[in-house]
Amino acid sequence: MESKKNVELNTPYGGKLVDLLVTGSEREDLARRAGEGPTLQLTPRSLCDLELLAMGGFSPLDRFMGKADYDSVLNNMRLANGLIWSIPITLPVAKLDGIAEGQEIALRNANNNLIAWMRVDEIFEADPHEEAAKGLGCSDEEHPTYREMLSWGKYRLSGPMKVLEMPQHVDFPELRRTPKEVREILAGMGNPDVVAFQTRNPMHRAHEELTKRAAQDSGANLLLNPVVGMTKPGDVDHYTRVRIYKALVENYYDPQTTLLSLLPLAMRMAGPREAIWHAIIRRNFGCNHLIVGRDHAGPGKNSKGKPFYDPAAARELLKQHSSEIGVKCLPYEEMVYLADEDRYEQVTQISANRKVFSISGTQVRDNYLTKGRLLPSWFTRKETAEILSSAYPARNKQGFCIWFTGLPSAGKSTIADVLTVLLMEHGRQITVLDGDVVRTHLSKGLGFSREDRDINILRIGYVASEIVRHHGAVICAAVSPYRETRNRVRAMMAKDAFIETFVDTPVAICEQRDVKGFYGKARAGVIKGFTGVDDPYEAPTNPEITLQTGNTTPHANAERIMEYLIREGFLLRDTSEVVKDEGEELRAAG
Ligand code: ADP
Ligand code: ADP
Repeated sequence: MESKKNVELNTPYGGKLVDLLVTGSEREDLARRAGEGPTLQLTPRSLCDLELLAMGGFSPLDRFMGKADYDSVLNNMRLANGLIWSIPITLPVAKLDGIAEGQEIALRNANNNLIAWMRVDEIFEADPHEEAAKGLGCSDEEHPTYREMLSWGKYRLSGPMKVLEMPQHVDFPELRRTPKEVREILAGMGNPDVVAFQTRNPMHRAHEELTKRAAQDSGANLLLNPVVGMTKPGDVDHYTRVRIYKALVENYYDPQTTLLSLLPLAMRMAGPREAIWHAIIRRNFGCNHLIVGRDHAGPGKNSKGKPFYDPAAARELLKQHSSEIGVKCLPYEEMVYLADEDRYEQVTQISANRKVFSISGTQVRDNYLTKGRLLPSWFTRKETAEILSSAYPARNKQGFCIWFTGLPSAGKSTIADVLTVLLMEHGRQITVLDGDVVRTHLSKGLGFSREDRDINILRIGYVASEIVRHHGAVICAAVSPYRETRNRVRAMMAKDAFIETFVDTPVAICEQRDVKGFYGKARAGVIKGFTGVDDPYEAPTNPEITLQTGNTTPHANAERIMEYLIREGFLLRDTSEVVKDEGEELRAAG
């Protein structure tokens, strides 16, 4: 690489990069003092905030905010000293557990490793409804951050803080850098102008075009700065995303002008206010431009089905404050594909009669990944398509759980036995977790109190969820009488993977069958707490499958479940069924 003179980059926000990491004897002294005080275990979100505070990503902030800054940020979008700041950065706790003002405390991570020393100068109370209304612009349960905020707890701690051990990351260490390190690299790249690209999603051709165009339009170098801290729940995991970013940067970007660096930020999905915050953070990393497209950092639709933020609001707000923040807003409209010219263009630059193509995130999932089809090359690079398809296998390669529930002797085990054989015939390996059998090993010693029954079901559910997570098929057959417990098991698995199958045999028929002689004993009072006799059974309100056994054979019912699995895509109807190739995507997308 030709050597270029180091250039001066945009200065840090507020003038100087904060660095909270201490070493040597100061570190030893503070570690000892922290160890003597009460401990606060940091949540994943607070740990992300701390990491950015520590390395100066939030400069000029050098601590979690006190009340004066907090109120001022919420009410005026400024710190108490007047500097623009849009997002409250606080340290919430639910219970003080002996922590009081004036104390020195230890901040620890989930493994209880000592991360930081803090002196609590201030404890104040915060109201999540007010914080959401002012900071997020809404208090709507659909807003993921508002929902999370409700469990943050009402106290906030503030005071000077020193970091003794930076949070450690085992993944992608070569791409994790402090603002100081990023600045050194960017300065050495020889261009004082740098445009930052923020993202929490896989990058497709539209994003590649957007970022290259932004760099070209502004004559700047490019900092690809994806968020790997916390994003919107349900987003593509960062392991998959970073593999994609790496492949793209290696193959399609100019290494002389592009830098990929990961940002351990915990996003708030706060739309316009978040865009301001993103700009400030990127200034600390040496950038003087930020790309802001449609609906920047927006969490989608609210409980009334309307977008939380006007799609243009983020770039409007940043434009308004951009000179004060010292970061220029590069606004772009959605980039779409013009098939006849084989190129991307902003949708607003294209006349109405032209045919354009794009594929939404939902379509990517439902029409491509779930069906095992590779994304087309006009939409995404082949590296991206392949990484996504290996991370999100087709439905017929995913796991599922057939969860039988019903009274004793309803027919759960009998149908499960037939279903097992049919699935094996179809080429699937099956694990069967039968309630009676599980009670002989995994749940040996448990009785039939509500508590013991719940433990048994949650154990079965836990094992089942692990099998499903590893793309296996599992059949569970246990009475599982309580609705709430079944729903807890449902929540352990990916959406759609839990297939509640209600074997709806009336108690009179079960009692007639009485395979194990329990109904007789229960009626005679020899055993107590028998489901259907003197213990409740709560029928499912909305099961995926309901089976009657009065007039339907076990085989016919097992076939019904097979049909369901085929219809939902978990099984191919015919194992020789082939997946369609890429040729037709253009038509499908239009
Ligand atoms: P977030 O805005 O929540 O970080 P994304 O990763 O989806 O989520 O977007 C990153 C940036 O790229 C945003 O400014 C967004 O508006 C912009 N962007 C996303 N998709 C497109 C597209 N197809 N064309 C142009 N800009 C886009
Ligand atoms: P569970 O597992 O629900 O406690 P089992 O499958 O062990 O119930 O017992 C159900 C009993 O009912 C078996 O002896 C089975 O042969 C009998 N049975 C009779 N008709 C049916 C039917 N249509 N479906 C399922 N089982 C039936």
